[in-house]
Amino acid sequence: MELKKVKKISFVANAVILAIVFGLMAFFYISDVMFLTYFSIPTIIVYLIGFVLISNGKLLWYVRMVFTWMTLYMCVTTVCLGYNYGFHMYCFSVIPISFISEYISYKINSRQLKAFKFSVSMALLSLISTGYVAYFGPVYEREQKYAAIFWLINASSVMGFLIFYTNFLIQTIISSEEKLNEIALVDRLTGLYNRHYMINCLDKMDEDYSSAYLAMADIDDFKKINDTYGHNAGDVVLEKVSEKMKSECRGCTVSRWGGEEFLILIPPAVEQPVELIENLRKNIASEKVHYEDKEISVTITAGISPRTDEHSIDQWIQTVDGKLYDGKHSGKNKVVS
Ligand code: GH3
Ligand code: MG
Ligand code: MG
Repeated sequence: MELKKVKKISFVANAVILAIVFGLMAFFYISDVMFLTYFSIPTIIVYLIGFVLISNGKLLWYVRMVFTWMTLYMCVTTVCLGYNYGFHMYCFSVIPISFISEYISYKINSRQLKAFKFSVSMALLSLISTGYVAYFGPVYEREQKYAAIFWLINASSVMGFLIFYTNFLIQTIISSEEKLNEIALVDRLTGLYNRHYMINCLDKMDEDYSSAYLAMADIDDFKKINDTYGHNAGDVVLEKVSEKMKSECRGCTVSRWGGEEFLILIPPAVEQPVELIENLRKNIASEKVHYEDKEISVTITAGISPRTDEHSIDQWIQTVDGKLYDGKHSGKNKVVS
């Protein structure tokens, strides 16, 4: 998250809170709760200072000041009016906000906000003020209807916030987990799964896959392609071959097993697995890869085998590797089954 965006959000939030403080001040005045009316004046000053801190980029100080004042405001209003006004519920939204702020401060600079310490202090002060009011009663006894209105406004905004916040948090976790998985399990150059993903996939294969096929394919004379046309051309060849594998082997799990070596798991639902790999080989051989003004001929050799009862995963891989080796030593550009 950019500092500029954080500043903008803080500015809007500060303006909204300031407007609420003015509204509350009017209510305290009308209902003749003079202490809270006067208490609103330093509160307004705090939020005005807030604008200055935000504009000067002193966000950490702004957050510290606002959270401290909010805690004080929550305790004072609770002691004055009683907890049935719901002011003490502020801590249920301010505590998660403090943790988000810690995260944002970690993202935009190295200095961290201590949300844990702040939350514990806020929770304790909330308990003390509500406990005090429960025991001694509020300083000001006002009409119950005001309490009902405040309770509904305060409680519904806190609950609404918690629903929004939790949903936001979970969606953020899911999307960053997806991004991390992609980084960890997908090969960057080719967009195919990497070796790590493939090993996991083979290990987790269930009994439905007992009649699956495994194919290992390797680009022929790839070193020569690199030496003749350059490493970048080699990369383009890898990309093109991978695209063909993805489009030809739909429903299969295709992985980049090593440099220019691919391991393909073909599920039992594919009826003619050997023909599938043969078609892939023909397709790759029939179309030259364009790189700058050059046309590069590319062929692959592949070994393919069904899984038999005596095959462990390692033995199965060794079997297809052996068939690939046979293909390489009997002329290349072929599929050995
Ligand atoms: P064979 O037909 O027997 O498979 O011969 P080959 O030349 O394809 O195989 P060899 O193992 O001798 O060479 C593979 C080359 O692949 C060597 C390595 O530099 C290159 N290579 C591995 N990964 C990449 C990559 O990501 N990009 C490029 N451009 N080259 C790579
Ligand atoms: Mg090769
Ligand atoms: Mg190789």
